[in-house]
Order: sequence, then structure tokens, then C-alpha cells
Amino acid sequence: MSAPRSPRLRPASAAAAAELRPVTALKGVGDSLAAKLAKLGIESVQDLLFLLPLRYEDRTHIVPIGSLTAGDRAVIEGEIQLAEVAFRRRRQLLVRISDGSGFLTLRFFYFTALQQAQLQRGVRLRCFGEARRGTVGLEIVHPEYRRADSTDAQRTEDSLTPVYPATEGVQQGRLRILTALALAEAERLQILDWLPPLLLDDLGLPPLRDALTYVHRPPPGADLVPLTLGLHPAQRRLAFEELLAHQLSLRQLREEIRADAGWPLVTAGTLANTFRTSLGFALTGAQERVLAEILADLRVPSPMLRLVQGDVGSGKTVVAALAALHAVEAGFQVALMAPTELLAEQHAQNFIQWLRPLKIPVALLSGKLTGRARQMTLNAIKAGVDVPIVVGTHALFQDGVRFGRLALVIIDEQHRFGVQQRMALREKGLVDGKFPHQLIMTATPIPRTLAMTAYADLDVSIIDELPPGRTPIKTVVLPESRRDEVVARIASACASGRQAYWVCPLIEESEELEYQAAEATHAALVVALPALRIGLAHGRLTPTRKEAVMASFKRGELDLLVATTVIEVGVDVPNASLMVVENSERMGLAQLHQLRGRVGRGSAESSCLLLYKNPLSQLARQRLDVMRSTNDGFEVSRRDLELRGPGELLGTRQTGLLQMKVADLARDADLLSRVQQAAEVMLQQYPNNIPPLLRRWIGARERYGRV
Ligand code: ADP
Ligand code: MG
Repeated sequence: MSAPRSPRLRPASAAAAAELRPVTALKGVGDSLAAKLAKLGIESVQDLLFLLPLRYEDRTHIVPIGSLTAGDRAVIEGEIQLAEVAFRRRRQLLVRISDGSGFLTLRFFYFTALQQAQLQRGVRLRCFGEARRGTVGLEIVHPEYRRADSTDAQRTEDSLTPVYPATEGVQQGRLRILTALALAEAERLQILDWLPPLLLDDLGLPPLRDALTYVHRPPPGADLVPLTLGLHPAQRRLAFEELLAHQLSLRQLREEIRADAGWPLVTAGTLANTFRTSLGFALTGAQERVLAEILADLRVPSPMLRLVQGDVGSGKTVVAALAALHAVEAGFQVALMAPTELLAEQHAQNFIQWLRPLKIPVALLSGKLTGRARQMTLNAIKAGVDVPIVVGTHALFQDGVRFGRLALVIIDEQHRFGVQQRMALREKGLVDGKFPHQLIMTATPIPRTLAMTAYADLDVSIIDELPPGRTPIKTVVLPESRRDEVVARIASACASGRQAYWVCPLIEESEELEYQAAEATHAALVVALPALRIGLAHGRLTPTRKEAVMASFKRGELDLLVATTVIEVGVDVPNASLMVVENSERMGLAQLHQLRGRVGRGSAESSCLLLYKNPLSQLARQRLDVMRSTNDGFEVSRRDLELRGPGELLGTRQTGLLQMKVADLARDADLLSRVQQAAEVMLQQYPNNIPPLLRRWIGARERYGRV
């Protein structure tokens, strides 16, 4: 039996179509205005409804000048007492007005002769603007103003005035008129609420139309504090609806992916078993469990989309290699994608070394590979025969690279990847109507609620156990003034045959300064530690140079590696047991945890020394405390979420992982678990409300990666 049809379905589609009408359907909107609005992403009436004000101004009542304080934005009314053009560095028009309770200066740097003629002593003005402290009492620079005549003495705005995000050539006044028209349309067309009243009651959130009216035209006396912070129930209601739409859209995407055709990879596991015996260690229980989850996915004739979360050093790469061998044994190609050239090279080296005994060739498609050699590699990849495993950066999926028999894509350290990129990769790997399996590995674990929000289209596996025999890393936080002790620690660690890293400050403002600092530190350490072999790696080196330095560090030909944060992810040198991070107060928790994860990979006791420069901000102190108190990546990430909010954590700033109109993952994080519950309710009980809800928020155009 099919799900009961919602009685709302019919009127719904008609109304949905109406709210999706182009802005040009509104009175006074022609093509040129429509083009300007399009720059703000506004194409339909509905887009206007969901264009939320950035802030509000209270023009609902006239404020006595005497009660104004600097910083207030207010409407005032008074009579001009004095108007004069003055020359104080610049020519300017100064107008003094008074309302009996006090006086105030209006200051104009730009004014016309007409304005000057109008602003005469005795004229009554109504003004709006921000009062600030001037040379004599309060002043407003370039206020909005008009003549106030006795007839409108009492008339003011009847709601708070919204201030919308600006776009070139569209004035605030115009946006206010347009949103008023859109609200009237919403009323006229009875725009439907796709969230069932029961659900809203439970959440204590208002119905859609009330929420829209409130956010666009808050009533006089509305509390500006929650409104400004985006925490008013009317705003929360809209954010909730948007988050729900995204959640449902990802869930739907996941269902669709499951319904697609993929390659069922059924093998005896001979290659994988041979590889296992060559490893010299047994997989941990967590590795076994996650591998089993992956293999179960690979056997099914629909594409896997699985995220493996595991702390640094938990052994994700080995698991990935085992999965890859199943695909290879089944006669297919595997693409392994790393976030940087350096990591791609390292993965390639690992795989080459691991798979040489099995006689499985591994190709590295790096930026360095050019000309004829590159063309030959590309041809082989396309033919799909001689290169079962191809390693590279995202360049693997650029135009010009074609895979002949791709069945598995492995993405390492994916926290920089959004849904769109995941979907693009899929499309790229399409061969004979079948999609490749995708395995995504991340060392930046994300708390569960957030993972379920951002990655609702993925299945998630967790490697929650470290290989045995690792001694926990000791983390020590110390001021820069104790640098000498740190240098002594390095000397003694290296004297006993261990290796160390020294990570130089991250200088966001300038790559140039960053590498200069690294060179200076290198030079100073060479002087301070004459007995040691010291290398230097930073982003300015050519890939070949960088690779050579990393390789000699790995071979133990260098005792100390001075580096910028280029070594952040993935570098694996088990003999390194000491990590020094300079200016650690400038780094984020995820980054610090990644850096720390470069040590503690062997059996020796490892330490991480976090050097900081005073003064420490409150946030920096908290971060360093977290680092000192736990080695557990999940705990670090939980605390990170608390301290920073999820936007940063997910890297949404860079990738546009989840692009929201209204919701803000940081601000609205507390809604997420209820969003997930609501998604269940919608799927179970209101399936017919889902398509129009998705149309409202996600739109047909941006359906993730689907064409
Ligand atoms: P991750 O990518 O999760 O940070 P890696 O896969 O690079 O971790 O593994 C870190 C190190 O641990 C590597 O040297 C790897 O060979 C080793 N390793 C992986 N799994 C195990 C295991 N089960 N027992 C012992 N060592 C392991
Ligand atoms: Mg790794």
C-alpha cells in the first residue's frame, strides 16, 4: 500500500508554483531591477521572502534628543537653530537642531546648494541616523532627514525597519517595498506551511507566515537583542525549516545513490590476504570491523558512499589498501586522492612498497609528471589495464583524465570536501552506466550530531582504537621564554637516536613572512644544535626539493625537521618522537591535534611541546588546556565544537559544505538533533510535504551534483 496522500497536495503545487514566480511578477519590477536582484541570488518571490534582514532599526518612535547616547540609532525631531558652512580641514555644512530636551549637530560633507537653501533656521526636521560623540555634544553625520510638518507630527513607522543585505544599485527603501509586496503575495496566495502544526507546537516555533511577517516587519517594542543575534523564535523557525530541508535532501540523495548501479566486487580476497601476511602486524579489532563494513558495501551492486573516521595514527591507510586490493582483484581500477602533492607522493610510496611483492603497479599522477610521460600515464589510465591503482591530488579528476575501469575512489583527509565535490567525483567515475564506490577517510572526527547533519548522505564507520604498543603522547605547554629547555630536549632525544619535528608559526597574513620565519628558525637551530643534521621544509620549496627533504627525514638521514605546517597531515615517520610547535596559541585545535599525531607512531615514548607567546587570549588558553588534557581526537573535536562552533570545524568557510540561506550551523547547532527527529517524522508521516519543502529551500538547480 502506498502512503496516504496528504489532502494538502493539490493546492500545494499551485501555491508552490506561485511563490516560485519570478520577481518580475511583482509590481514595479522590470528587467534591469531583476538583474540587480539576481546578484543577491533573488529570482523568485519566494527568494525575497527568505531574504532576511541583517539588522533592524527602530523608527517606530521619536526619541528625545536629551535621552540619546553615543551609538544609538534613532529617529529624532527638532527645529533648526543654526546652519552654517564651516571649513575644518574640509568644507562642511553644520546644522544644529534642538527639540527642547537637548541639541544635536547634523554634519554634511557632501551637500548641494539646494540642500543648503532648505536647511534654514526655524525649519523642523525629522532625522534618522547614528548619534556619535562630536566636538560639541552629539552629532549625526549624513543623517537621513526630511522636513517635518505639523500634519505628520505623530506619524512614525509602524514596525521596526529591516536593513537588508546590500546589493549594488538596489536601495534599502526599494528592498523594503519589494519585501512588503512579497509578504502581501504570501498572504494573498496563502503560502503553505510544510511543517505540520504538531511538530511546530512541540518545538514551540511559530507558523511560517507569522515567522516571515515577524522577521521582515517586527512590531514596535520587539526586543532587538534576540533579533540581532538571530535567536528570535521567528528566525529559529526559518532556520529549522532550512536545516530540515537540507537533512531531507541529503537523506534523499543517499536513497537515490543506493538505487544507482555500481560494480559488485566479489573476490576470494587472495591479494588482500597475501598483503595482510606481509604486514608484520595484525589489524586492530576496529580496523577489522570497519574493513568488514567496507567489504560488505563493495559486494553490493550499488555504489558505496562511506566515511571512515579515525584518529591520526589509527591505521586508516592500511584499511584503504585492503579495500583497494579487493577492487584490483576483481579486475578494476582504484583512484586514491590526497589533499596535497606531498601526501599523494607519500601514499604512492607506501602503496608501491606494499604492493611491489604482489606485482601490482601503482601510478602517481602528480603535477611534476609532464609531457610524454604524462600522456603515456593518461593513456594507460584510460585503457584501464596497466595501472590498477592511481594516486594523485584532486587533479585526478580534472578534465583530460579518464578512467577505463574505475570501481573505487578513495579520498584521504576529506574534511575539505563538500557534498558537491563528492557528487562531482561520482559523476566523473561513471563508466558503462555504473558509479564507482567511494571511500572517504578523515582524521578530523566530527561529533555525531554534526556528522549526521553534514554527512547525512554517507554511511559512517569509526576506527575507535589505536594499534597496540603505542605509548600515549605527553603534551606539555610552555612559554616561549623556555625555548632553551626545548632545544636541550631536542638534543637529548636525537642523541638517543630519535627524530624530532619543529613546526614554525603559521602566518596567515603572508606566506612570504612564514617562510622567512622558518628559514630564520632553521638557521638559529643549526647554530644551537651543531651536532644535529637539520632539514627544512616549507611551502616555497619545489615539490622535488620538499619530497627530497621529507624522504631523507623518513630514511633517518636528518635528526630534526624544521617545517611550516606543510607537515600537518598524514606524514608518517615512526621514529620521530618529539614534536615542537611554535606559536601554538595561533593554531586551531584540529590543526594542533593533527600535528601532534605526527609523533607517537612508534613504540618510543613521545612528547609534544607546545610553545606559546604571551599574552594568551582566553580562547587560546582553553585550546591549549584541551590539548594538554586529552589525546583523543573525538574529545578534541567535541571541545573544538564547543569553543569554535561547527562552521569552522567542518571547514564550511572554504568549501561551502552546506550553504544555508538562513541557518547558521554554529548559531543553530542546538537545533540539529531535533532536526533529525523531525526528518524522521516527515519521512514517516508527511512524505508529501517533502518535495515542496525541498523545492522551497534547495531548489531544482542546486540539487547536489545531480544533473
Ligand atoms: P592514519 O592514516 O589513520 O593516520 P596510518 O594508516 O598512516 O594512520 O597508520 C599509522 C601507522 O601505524 C603506520 O605506520 C601503519 O603502518 C601503522 N599501523 C596501521 N595499523 C596497524 C596495526 N594494526 N598495528 C600496528 N601498526 C599499524
Ligand atoms: Mg593517513
